[in-house]
Amino acid sequence: MHRIVLLGPPGAGKGTQAKRLAKELGIPHLSTGELLRAAASAGTALGREADGYMRQGRLVPDALVLGILRERLAAADAHRGFILDGYPRNVAQAQSLAEITPVEQVLYFEIPESVLVDRLSQRRNCPTCGTVYNLVTQPPRQSGRCDRDGTPLIQRTDDSEEAVRTRLAVYREATVPLLDLYRTQGLVRTVPAGGSVEEVDARVRAALH
Ligand code: ADP
Ligand code: AMP
Repeated sequence: MHRIVLLGPPGAGKGTQAKRLAKELGIPHLSTGELLRAAASAGTALGREADGYMRQGRLVPDALVLGILRERLAAADAHRGFILDGYPRNVAQAQSLAEITPVEQVLYFEIPESVLVDRLSQRRNCPTCGTVYNLVTQPPRQSGRCDRDGTPLIQRTDDSEEAVRTRLAVYREATVPLLDLYRTQGLVRTVPAGGSVEEVDARVRAALH
């Protein structure tokens, strides 16, 4: 059974690779960012509370994210394994996760910060199906529209320059210590995350066991 965590800074390509890998392995891609954005756009109480943190690029409080994750992990499709993208993001979240389920593998997406800022400013998302594009490296066939369903693409509010700066700082302060913790547990394989989507995909497959 694959119980995989993808770890790495915002813009490293975790979501892009998770979607491909989920299809290949037949297990769900669980992104807490996507779950929180869906709650925010549905206007639920949790979504409204989370939205303010997300816009600023700060972490949503642990208890809120844990609730949404616990519910998602309880769904039938997650019983055969999962690819977690965006959770855990700090040491406390890793401890909460360990109480719910063991993690077998952590893939660390390693990439220079200078690449991230470009990737994030060029990112566009389909609000209907969640497909992720990049104006430069992964452009849609028709400008501004999703290849799959024609929906006008949007730019995430937290891909603004200011929110990106905050997200990178949060990553360094809260998430990097978590990487050290998983290293001491012997779970981490490093995936160099520069290069094309196909190249990174090949490295991800090679890193899996
Ligand atoms: P994350 O989930 O880690 O925040 P994404 O998967 O959303 O990252 O990717 C961030 C941006 O970079 C998107 O615009 C995506 O299309 C683009 N991207 C992802 N992987 C690559 C890659 N290997 N090379 C170039 N651009 C990429
Ligand atoms: P992502 O889609 O992974 O880039 O996450 C987008 C935003 O959602 C983050 O900047 C946080 O505000 C929030 N978020 C996602 N996952 C978590 C998490 N595990 N803990 C706290 N906040 C999160």
